[in-house]
Amino acid sequence: MERTIFERIIACEIPATIEYEDADIIAIRDIAPAAPVHVLIIPKRVITSVDALAESDTDLVGRVFLVARDLARKYGIAENGYRVVTNCNADGGQTVFHLHFHLLGGEPLGRMNSASMSHVPAVASTALVRSTTLRDIVIVLAVTIGLAIGFNAMNPKAIAWIKPEFERQTATQTDIDKYLAPSTPAPSQPKEVIQQTPAQEQSATPLTTNAKPTAGASALPSPQPLADASTKVAPEQTFTSEPGVVREITYDMFVRLYQGSKNYLIDARGADKFAQGHINGAVNYYGGEVQSRIPDLLANVPRDRVILIYCDGGECELSHHVADVLKQFGYGPVFIYTGGWAEWTSKRK
Ligand code: 5GP
Repeated sequence: MERTIFERIIACEIPATIEYEDADIIAIRDIAPAAPVHVLIIPKRVITSVDALAESDTDLVGRVFLVARDLARKYGIAENGYRVVTNCNADGGQTVFHLHFHLLGGEPLGRMNSASMSHVPAVASTALVRSTTLRDIVIVLAVTIGLAIGFNAMNPKAIAWIKPEFERQTATQTDIDKYLAPSTPAPSQPKEVIQQTPAQEQSATPLTTNAKPTAGASALPSPQPLADASTKVAPEQTFTSEPGVVREITYDMFVRLYQGSKNYLIDARGADKFAQGHINGAVNYYGGEVQSRIPDLLANVPRDRVILIYCDGGECELSHHVADVLKQFGYGPVFIYTGGWAEWTSKRK
């Protein structure tokens, strides 16, 4: 029998983004995600479907669910909820005949209405067939329009009239002050305040969009070392989370937070611009494709930091795309430096 795509992925013949691996189980990101988090948890041994399971597989299947549980926690979706499903054979919608479980989450998934329709008898009355067909056409149209709008919304070169209107809230000095270490000075001499240090240079760990764990990656890797600017500030900084709060800040506010808060700095520009230069300590999450990096983001962006985001400056759409995702997953406070890279470099001249 021809080997399935999953066998070839397990044998490292085809690349995949591995989220978890042990001797018996591998979890990879789905190539066509149906939700912000969509991971396939696959027993390595060839078992074609649930229907081919044996009594002796009880432990293996149990462990699949524990991997699902741990991954859901890792992505921060456990509390809100998620779905673990497996499709069996043709009517179940299975397309790859190597047992696997879909872990889906990161947004409300709704009820499994489409699955409940699968029992409609093949000999249904003409009227039912007609109404079902009409309903299917409406659903397909709605999904297509939805996808188009979603794609457009996420595309920085989107058609203007259906571009998302971002909530733009300006930070006050009080919003900033509560995150600053008591000793943080006002940025009277910003050029010196933000001077580079070798430590800062070292902490800049760009995460490229192509970053893929190796096939030998071990179980649930712990988050990567944090790339931030916090190593240079006094230890008495405070942090109070403000889930879902996104505010825009000026250059002076940014300098103060960058230098004086426990923060995590994100550069939302494209990887090419990031490679040409970025603010020390920044991590790169391109705003134009942040939706496809949600698992990365959830695994690596800490929840106990002030999040600072910048892009080129101006409308800050790329920053807002990243901020929206963070907001959706309960991160906060998030501050967007509206002057961005353009202002930063001009002030540093
Ligand atoms: P099924 O339809 O069998 O329940 O699920 C198969 C899943 O495998 C689909 O969600 C599909 O997107 C995913 N898939 C198919 N080919 C590949 C591939 O080459 N790489 C990855 N990562 N996923 C794949």
